[in-house]
Amino acid sequence: MSAVVIHQWQVDNLPGLCMRCGMPATTRRGKTFSKAQGWVSILPIFGGLPWVICSALFRDRFHVRVPLCDGHRNHFNWQAGILWGGMALVAMLLAGCFAAIAHVDDQTLSRCFGFAGIVAAIWVILFVGNRFYGMTVAIINDDSAIIVGVSHRFAEECEREGQHVHEVARY
Ligand SMILES: [Zn+2]
Repeated sequence: MSAVVIHQWQVDNLPGLCMRCGMPATTRRGKTFSKAQGWVSILPIFGGLPWVICSALFRDRFHVRVPLCDGHRNHFNWQAGILWGGMALVAMLLAGCFAAIAHVDDQTLSRCFGFAGIVAAIWVILFVGNRFYGMTVAIINDDSAIIVGVSHRFAEECEREGQHVHEVARY
């Protein structure tokens, strides 16, 4: 896997290769990459909650029409599914455990919370693993962004087009 710099002028006209594997693209999917703004990273010193809230509120965004092949057309749906589906599952299990507090004995209850904990741990591992493995944004600037986890071929093609435009602009 590789990393690619995408400039603002390229976002709607990326090379017709799957961003993920480099095969000819069959579709383009609108995707808004987003990342918490840099200053948010100092907030953990004030506690976890301000950090969580500000990382959700203050985000840089970069919209791209991403070329994808048939095999990877749902790449971003998987990412979102793991994030929100897992979060909903863990929240439901915890709610179930709390609801059971008054009705079951301690041993059963600790088993319930233990199970919820295991599911939460698996979810975190899947989520973090997917973040490292999938396509995601590393840096967002005013007029460009660096996307990581993209195919090497796609990155090369993108760079070649970028240089071509620079040369045309120069002469
Ligand atoms: Zn692909």
